[in-house]
Amino acid sequence: MSKDRIGNQTIGCSVRSCRHNDQGNYCELSRIEVKPCTHHDHNHTCAGKPEDESLCGSYQMK
Ligand code: SF4
Repeated sequence: MSKDRIGNQTIGCSVRSCRHNDQGNYCELSRIEVKPCTHHDHNHTCAGKPEDESLCGSYQMK
């Protein structure tokens, strides 16, 4: 199931190298897709470290 909009979230983001970023503070998109990190193989044991588990899949280089 996919919905364009659920709730009214503001996306804070400091990834300045992304074309959707505003002043290092916010994401300008109304919706982003958060993805699991792709380095995980099928036998990966989840360690739960935030930086290892997810990242923004809507990132685009400026
Ligand atoms: S698309 Fe992702 S990385 Fe880019 S500004 Fe938005 S939240 Fe940040």
